[in-house]
Amino acid sequence: MELIIIIWFACAITAGVIASNRGGSGLFWFLEGAIFGPLGVLTAFTAGKKCPYCRSRISPKAIVCPKCGREIEKKKYDKWREVGKTIREKREKKAG
Ligand SMILES: [Zn+2]
Repeated sequence: MELIIIIWFACAITAGVIASNRGGSGLFWFLEGAIFGPLGVLTAFTAGKKCPYCRSRISPKAIVCPKCGREIEKKKYDKWREVGKTIREKREKKAG
């Protein structure tokens, strides 16, 4: 019985470490590992978000991908700015 507790605890730590390395919440995944054991460790590999360019796992808060150096959030922001600009231009054309 003690061995199971030790294995489960090891799973919780492993899941927490894997997730935090991938930009996920260490504490959240520690609990996930504590609840699901080895399954929690496997799912910890899916923590964090993926870079749309190089497909490597990065921090959810990352603006620039540490692997390929491309900006992630800016692209999204630029897209909406572009949309706003187009709408403005159309309005100006109508007004003018
Ligand atoms: Zn990347």
